[in-house]
Amino acid sequence: MPLQLRTTDTLSEAAALLASERAARFLGGGTLLMRAVNEGDVSFSVIVRTRDPAFARMRTAGTRIELGAGVRMAQILASRDLAFLHPAARAIGGPAVRSMATIGGNLFAEHPYGDFTVALLALDARVQLASSLGVRELALEEFLRARGRSERVLVSGVSFERPADPSAFRFHKMTRTHPKGAAVLTIAALVPLIGGRIVGARVAYGAMAPTPMRARAVERALEGRPLTAEGIAAAVAVAAEGTDPPTDALASSWYRRRVIGVMLRRLLLGET
Ligand SMILES: Cc1cc2nc3c(=O)[nH]c(=O)nc-3n(C[C@H](O)[C@H](O)[C@H](O)COP(=O)(O)OP(=O)(O)OC[C@H]3O[C@@H](n4cnc5c(N)ncnc54)[C@H](O)[C@@H]3O)c2cc1C
Repeated sequence: MPLQLRTTDTLSEAAALLASERAARFLGGGTLLMRAVNEGDVSFSVIVRTRDPAFARMRTAGTRIELGAGVRMAQILASRDLAFLHPAARAIGGPAVRSMATIGGNLFAEHPYGDFTVALLALDARVQLASSLGVRELALEEFLRARGRSERVLVSGVSFERPADPSAFRFHKMTRTHPKGAAVLTIAALVPLIGGRIVGARVAYGAMAPTPMRARAVERALEGRPLTAEGIAAAVAVAAEGTDPPTDALASSWYRRRVIGVMLRRLLLGET
């Protein structure tokens, strides 16, 4: 089947095309979409892309960070303002993939991918969806819940609060091959301390459920505790609560459940 490439000047034109064409898919960096084309996926016949400058815009200087969905992992790595996100961006593939892979595409990447999305989830990011009527915003967690049904929406950007203390943000991806590989599991955590106690903890997992997820039981157990081995013991004990990890070629569901507590403890104590 011939493939049509449609390039728009604006995000709203791209969104309108996606909404009107059942067989359309949006092109971010193409690391997954073009692989699907090369593998003979015929579920779509129109590829939509945009040259709207807003799509790749970065506002990183203030307390609220705004990133266009077309921002690539390599751009994150080139930004000093976003140094706390470098471990997450560096976890995505090799240099060639990182020079193409976008934040927007990562939000749609299926297991075992989506590592950057895990970091955004721990930052409580909000997702902007473009349509011909304008832009609406929703929490990333809500977006992920509806993701299977939202294939033809256009994500235009994400935004989140810069952590007041960048060292409160932690990220670790466990792989079987080093230095790179797909995730056995991924954890991102924001553990701000006030007076030596954790206040407003957020913990997110990748590869522990069909989509990246918040570890709510862990977050509750961390609240008000010191960031010490004793302080986090209750959180580690409930590390697997609410998870539904898949079994794949990298690890079994059983293994992921067994190891998540160990990796969580190491991440929180700064041992990874
Ligand atoms: C060799 C290799 C290694 C990889 N390693 C990793 C890894 O370690 N970790 C990881 O997380 N991922 C990995 N990936 C997967 C992928 O590169 C990343 O997830 C990347 O961020 C996807 O972004 P993209 O812009 O390339 O997406 P694309 O391929 O352009 O798109 C992927 C899907 O998302 C949709 N989409 C893209 N952008 C938007 C948007 N703005 N609005 C609506 N829909 C959109 C597309 O229509 C498509 O369905 C790897 C891929 C390869 C080929």
